[in-house]
Amino acid sequence: MYFYVSDDPLATHGFSSLEENSSLQQLIPYNHSFGISQRLLLSSRNGFFVKNIDDIDPRFICQSCRLVLRKPYQLQCGHRQCQACIDVQNRTIHCLSCSKTSAINEVWFDAALQAELECLSIFCSVCDWTGPLKIYQDHIDQNHVDRFLICSLCREQVERSKILEHYMTETHQSRLLNILLHLQSIQIKNDQQQHQMRYSQFHDMISILSTDIALLDIRVEQIQYEFYSQQQALELHTYKLLLLKNLI
Ligand SMILES: [Zn+2]
Ligand SMILES: [Zn+2]
Ligand SMILES: [Zn+2]
Ligand SMILES: [Zn+2]
Repeated sequence: MYFYVSDDPLATHGFSSLEENSSLQQLIPYNHSFGISQRLLLSSRNGFFVKNIDDIDPRFICQSCRLVLRKPYQLQCGHRQCQACIDVQNRTIHCLSCSKTSAINEVWFDAALQAELECLSIFCSVCDWTGPLKIYQDHIDQNHVDRFLICSLCREQVERSKILEHYMTETHQSRLLNILLHLQSIQIKNDQQQHQMRYSQFHDMISILSTDIALLDIRVEQIQYEFYSQQQALELHTYKLLLLKNLI
């Protein structure tokens, strides 16, 4: 059993924020407009942040993330979205711009637009670099993404490209497991504390109820005493009444 800690290298630099859309790669049928090898190479990230976004033709902007399209797909309605921005639900794709739906085999990787995109002249959103979109990702990877990551669990420097391998190492896995077990034990302690709290609440309630019962007992005794007194009084009155009757 393995535990994953997700790490999107671009997320920390603001290049990507939405969740990975890995389901699409599994769902898109093999007889697609592009080959398997190309399909496997598809990036799962959302669009590109660029400095000159306002000067870019709207055709090149993703209807979903509003960034420059990355791996553009054309939906049945004609709208285009990045591969990672496509929302697949029950083999149906909902256009985030016009709400029309397309079946999963009705969306196509727009190779023609991709070719146009690659020639787009863009300005890096971070530095003064400018160049075609085709090599923008390489520029980002080489200049704006740290080569090393620090594993916060092991406090170890790990090469970014080897981070997944690191997550699988026995040292990292056992540290992660220890943390999970620790969290679990805290949870159990919390549960015990809750039980104790409930027990003391229950105890308080019982003592209140028993006081009430004692008070009721006293009240019953009082009523019995009153009843007895009234009975005595009644007997006395009956006796007096008899005396009066005899006198008459
Ligand atoms: Zn997008
Ligand atoms: Zn649409
Ligand atoms: Zn740059
Ligand atoms: Zn680690």
